[in-house]
Amino acid sequence: MTRSEELFLQAQTLMPGGVNSPVRAFQSVGSSPRFIGRAKGSRIYDVDGNEYLDYIGSWGPLILGHARPEVVQAVARSAENGLSFGAATGAEVTMAELICELVPSVEMVRLVNSGTEAVMSALRLARGYTGRDKIIKFAGCYHGHSDAMLVKAGSGVMTAGVPDSLGVPAGCANDTLTAVYNDLESVVSLFEQNKGQVAAVILELVPANMGVVLPREGFLPGLQKLCRDNGALMIADEVITGFRLGTGGAQEHYGIVPDLTTFGKIIGGGLPVGAYGGRKEVMEMIAPSGAVYQAGTLSGNPVAMAAGITQLTILKENPRIYFDLEALGQRLREGLKTIIEAHGVNASVTGIGSLSCLFFSGKEVRNDTEARQSDTERYRTYFNFMLSRGIYFAPSQFEAVFISAAHTPEDIDDTLACAEEVLKKS
Ligand code: PMP
Repeated sequence: MTRSEELFLQAQTLMPGGVNSPVRAFQSVGSSPRFIGRAKGSRIYDVDGNEYLDYIGSWGPLILGHARPEVVQAVARSAENGLSFGAATGAEVTMAELICELVPSVEMVRLVNSGTEAVMSALRLARGYTGRDKIIKFAGCYHGHSDAMLVKAGSGVMTAGVPDSLGVPAGCANDTLTAVYNDLESVVSLFEQNKGQVAAVILELVPANMGVVLPREGFLPGLQKLCRDNGALMIADEVITGFRLGTGGAQEHYGIVPDLTTFGKIIGGGLPVGAYGGRKEVMEMIAPSGAVYQAGTLSGNPVAMAAGITQLTILKENPRIYFDLEALGQRLREGLKTIIEAHGVNASVTGIGSLSCLFFSGKEVRNDTEARQSDTERYRTYFNFMLSRGIYFAPSQFEAVFISAAHTPEDIDDTLACAEEVLKKS
């Protein structure tokens, strides 16, 4: 038995499913999770000493790769000065300044500890600001695990095949309306059926939790207009896309100006951070300046700020990183497309910049229903083969492939060579 297997057996007696976040259990790919001991650059190493080329990057935050020296040093320096104060610090001001500068729609920001918290708080703010209760979300988009967002959610919820979670009060779920991504008509009809009651529309501008799905031409601007016309706030959840598709995120790429934006892990460089921000007039409704309450003992934690500030500063000062990430992403996507065509594989490839996805479905995927049509059995075979060759993709069809600045063209070519071996048989 490997050390990972031993640990997993023990973990299952101590933690539900042996993990602290469901997808980590490798349930849908039918294998046993690797317990990770350390990581560096594009590589992670399990406790048995196996090396893997990592395409998860802690689910997004490690855009510069694992244990980037500047980030690690900043963390160490900050830790020496104390781990937490529960009081205001200059580092929070620097972080807020960076976010507001790089994302123009964000005039003011509030720092929290996770993406879940950022979304939950942004929804409360939207409700407080508009005096309305209902929220429109899109099926297959994941916005963390707050009650209101566990309705037709993506990511692990989609992987497990459970449409919803137990324990979500009906009243809470009733206020969450679900639309179809890339389908403006579905939003129009929800607005019509709920006139004057919708506080906000929340979405991943580029969904990356039902695999990766791209917005159709006109969808995002159309949605922005619908929100304005109906007096609802537009909330862009950029937990994955923020600072990944560019320093201005997906909103800059697509020319969208949301009222509120949520950020997550990437602004913590690997430590727990989240944030929500947007128009000053809306943000000023948050306590203590306004009457929408939201607080956090560890919010703006100095060590997390040190990691995040260092990562964001490197990104800001080196715009070339994004060109390189785009080139690597293209190389992967084009390579996969070539393999698919050469061997007549029933699969399709999507993605943008450093986010990619191989769907085991020959058709273009535009929403969650189409994503669900992909053959998860074939994903399972692909995943396990790649893992056996030391290539670590997400243990689920419905997640993204993340490339970091530590990946090289040779890494991508090695990945494609392995992928061809398994795909030509599928
Ligand atoms: N929003 C999006 C778009 C996400 O992808 C995630 C998690 N990957 C979240 C919110 C929740 O973030 P967290 O897991 O940090 O709570």
